[in-house]
Formats: sequence, structure tokens, C-alpha cells
Amino acid sequence: MEGHEKDFLGQMDARVGHWLQTPDPDYESDNQIESDSFFDGWLLRRMSHNAIFDVGGVLVDESLLDVRFACVPERCSPKVERGKFKSCCADLTVYLTTRERKRLNKYRKPLAKYMLAREPRLEKRIKGKKKKKKFWLDGDGDAFARPKKRCVFSLIDSEGRIRCHLHNFAAKNGIEQTDIQPVTCRLFPLILVDLEDGRVLVTAMNKDNYKAWGGKHPKFFPCLSDPELPPVIESMGPTLDWLFGEGFAAELSQAGALHRQEKADAEKALASEVEGD
Ligand code: SF4
Ligand code: SF4
Repeated sequence: MEGHEKDFLGQMDARVGHWLQTPDPDYESDNQIESDSFFDGWLLRRMSHNAIFDVGGVLVDESLLDVRFACVPERCSPKVERGKFKSCCADLTVYLTTRERKRLNKYRKPLAKYMLAREPRLEKRIKGKKKKKKFWLDGDGDAFARPKKRCVFSLIDSEGRIRCHLHNFAAKNGIEQTDIQPVTCRLFPLILVDLEDGRVLVTAMNKDNYKAWGGKHPKFFPCLSDPELPPVIESMGPTLDWLFGEGFAAELSQAGALHRQEKADAEKALASEVEGD
């Protein structure tokens, strides 16, 4: 297929590659086993419907072409009348790999100072006796804490929208985002799956696959349930390019259109064959 000579998979950010191969701490839990079993069935269905195509070594789930997404934090923040809506920065657990914890720890002192000046809710955590324990970790030490029911690094801006201190801290101090922010935070609502044998699949959370990631139905997220929002491959284009190299998002869009055209042609040809019988 045109353009597929490019090796996008080979350009995958090494930190993301390591993150992908690190299982979540709850990988042996009953919930995870249930999600894995749902995932196996989902993947089988996608393959049997010819709904997966290749873009430079990266396997892409066709539904990625249909998901609409843009971050609209004014609709989900804990400080607004958000009704049934959930927020990725308030309601979801963000696990960290050992490497992510180490990267974050490099900035422990300036981060503590930065957060103390901006988040009074963290005063006890930062100044408390348990200083050895990183103020950002939960009781198990493997995920971000959520004091006052939102991520330890979340901020509520002057308009009541939920935002990210880590993102701002990185920008202010000229730190590359992945050097400090967990991969999970950068991806939402994209999903990367390590299929083993070096194969990687990319999709986005949607109504047909959310159970495979142990997530909530997309109707609970304002950024995933509004058909007026832009296609996720546009709004998350910079993230897709960060993941697999410059030009990946554009290539994916072209390859997706071609894949759909080929599928439609094949179905038409089959229909006329059946008619001709
Ligand atoms: S990505 Fe969605 S859930 Fe997360 S803050 Fe934005 S609108 Fe809310
Ligand atoms: S670190 Fe930032 S992006 Fe990640 S969950 Fe916390 S507030 Fe949200």
C-alpha cells in the first residue's frame, strides 16, 4: 500500500515502548482477567471483520477513524455541574511504571515547592512526617493519589475547569513532557496494545471496546460523547505523531480512507458475484 514503506513502528518513542510492556499492578485481579477475556473476543471480531489495517508497521483499529474527541474540561470538572460526566483527571486511576516514578522523582524538590504554592490541599502531604514517601503517590505507592477526589497534580483554573499542574510545570521549566508526565495521561482516549511478537495496535476508547480496558462507557465522558467534536485522529494528531513519528497521523488518515475504499469495493464485487450466481 502506498506510503506503507515507512517504518512508523520503529520510530515509537522508547519510553512508550517500555511503558507498553509493563503490566498494571492489578494485572492478576479478577477485573483484569475479565477485561483480558473481553479483549480477546473484541480483537477476534475486529480481525474477522477486516477492521484492522497496517500503517508503517503499526496496526490500526478502523474505529479510530470514527471516534470524535476534544478535551472540553468545562463539562466534566468537579467544580461544575457535571451531572453523569466523569473526568479523566478526577475519576480515573493513573498507574505509574517504575521508570515513570524515577523520572518524576528527579524533580521532587522543585515540584514540592511549585505545588505547595498552588495547592493548599497538599500541604499536609508535602510537609508531613512521611516525607520519604513521595507526596504524589497513593497508599500502595503505584498510582497518583487523589486527595479531595481529584488527581494530586490536577488544578482547577479560574473558570472552574480541571487542568494539569504537571503539564504547566514542564512547560514553565523547559522539561520535555514525557520526562515528567505519565504516558497514560498523554494518551487518553487513545489506547495502545502490545500484541506481543513486536506488534502494536492503536485504537481509541469507544462503546465497543471500553470493557477491554476496564474503563467506563464513553457516554460518561463529555469529550467522547459529542458527535460535533472533531475526529480523534485530528485532535490527537500531535500525540499520534509523538508516538510514532512525524507524519504518522496524516498517513493513518490516508491509509484509513484507502482501507475503507478497498473494503467497499470487495463487498460490492462479492454482492455482484452472488447476484450473478
Ligand atoms: S479529556 Fe475528557 S474527561 Fe479528561 S478533562 Fe478533558 S473533557 Fe474531561
Ligand atoms: S497528572 Fe495531570 S493529566 Fe495526569 S491525571 Fe493528573 S492532572 Fe490529569
